[in-house]
Amino acid sequence: MPVQVAIVGAGPSGFYTAAALMQADETCRVDIIEALPTPFGLIRAGVAPDHQSTKGVSRAFARTAQAPRVSFFGNVVLGRDIGLDELRGLYDAVVLATGAPLDRPLGIPGGESDGVYGAAAFVGWYNGHPDFCDLAPDLNTAAVAVIGNGNVAIDVARVLAKTPAEMASSDLAENAAAVIHKAPIQDITLIGRRGPVEAKFTNKELSEMGDLAECVPLVDPAQLPAEVDGDMSDRDRRLREKNLATLRGFSCRRPDEKRKRVHFLFYARPVEVLGDGRVRGLRLERTRVEGDRAVGTGEMFEIPCGVVISAIGYRMPPLPGVSIDERAGVVANRDGRVEKGLYVVGWAKRGPVGVIGTNKADGDVVAQQITEDMAENAAGDGRPGGAGLRKLLAKRGVNPVTFADWLRIEAAEVAAAPAGAPRRKLIRIKDMLAVVAQPAKAAAKS
Ligand code: NAP
Repeated sequence: MPVQVAIVGAGPSGFYTAAALMQADETCRVDIIEALPTPFGLIRAGVAPDHQSTKGVSRAFARTAQAPRVSFFGNVVLGRDIGLDELRGLYDAVVLATGAPLDRPLGIPGGESDGVYGAAAFVGWYNGHPDFCDLAPDLNTAAVAVIGNGNVAIDVARVLAKTPAEMASSDLAENAAAVIHKAPIQDITLIGRRGPVEAKFTNKELSEMGDLAECVPLVDPAQLPAEVDGDMSDRDRRLREKNLATLRGFSCRRPDEKRKRVHFLFYARPVEVLGDGRVRGLRLERTRVEGDRAVGTGEMFEIPCGVVISAIGYRMPPLPGVSIDERAGVVANRDGRVEKGLYVVGWAKRGPVGVIGTNKADGDVVAQQITEDMAENAAGDGRPGGAGLRKLLAKRGVNPVTFADWLRIEAAEVAAAPAGAPRRKLIRIKDMLAVVAQPAKAAAKS
């Protein structure tokens, strides 16, 4: 009997796992179960809308989804439409590929004020994720503070800084474009609690800030060390030196060069969001770096801003039936093994670090583990797999969105794209399902 595997989550870690399973076992069947009607997870709703080339990997994922032994069950929510225990009963192995979709809390006074947004919500909003399409951030401000020195922080700053013409070839959600492009933002401050050498930006993303049409990057040269000190690999040293060189270039730019400015502010730890229920500014403490840590100096200062976006990393939601390693914010696991028949990959396994391709190794590891465990336990002993899942969902009145259905949603988005853009995203589940229902209605009439 073929081994039946369910993968929960249709993002990069889920698809790399499906592809690895196809290779590792030439008979196994894989069902990918996804809460949204749309596949591809962070490729669709996390990767910046102006970084279309990064999204190209979804073509390989689509080929995996269309392989004869793979099925996509979209719009099926774990815990709402099907329980984890039920899945584990239906399949020989269940792989959690659910990512880390929640914002890490800022945890400072005022952090809940109006005008403070987490990057998961904010990025989800401008990328047309249905869970965040009604975020309606109030961007009617001249100054925005973005907390964090990772690629998500820089993505947010860039999307706020780019002109409509620069975003014309992106798939920025239309409702977000309307708000962002009429916002009177002039100053965006990117805040790092450590220094320029410790910043986690990749150089491509950092350099891009120097080439924007109407925004100039600025940094105080006094914050830039003369060289990269400390013990590290040659590769790390080269990458950090590259960032430092890019920042040195930024330190020579003039504030009046362009209409908008992005300020790189290092050695500053947010301690309070100021305002009376609505953001008016940030109080920060100057830091110095000791070892790997930012240590407060006790010196406080304030910057005015009307919006704070916190891009300080992501965490997992609780998953009923799964024990979470609270300290690491991941599913408790031993290199992907959770318990018998249950596995985890991607950010749910190792936390929110690494690029899209990092997930490939997770997929390879778990495919190997499943193959080994199944051989050992003589599993693949006739579990119902997808046929059982379909039956159970039908009994509950749940109609999964198939991959063919998704292709129709995609075709509708592409057909509606403004000139030069790859697609006009549908941002509401009901609108996606209306597209799926169209051919059925037409058929019913004829
Ligand atoms: P990240 O790279 O881990 O950056 C998080 C940033 O938040 C760090 O600068 C961190 O500072 C800071 N931070 C954490 N807690 C903080 C606090 N309490 N107060 C102030 N600052 C705090 O995470 P990310 O930007 O969310 O990105 C997640 C992963 O996705 C990364 O691996 C990233 O490279 C990847 N990604 C890649 C791309 C791309 O390739 N274009 C785009 C987006 C995301 P410390 O360093 O001091 O902890």
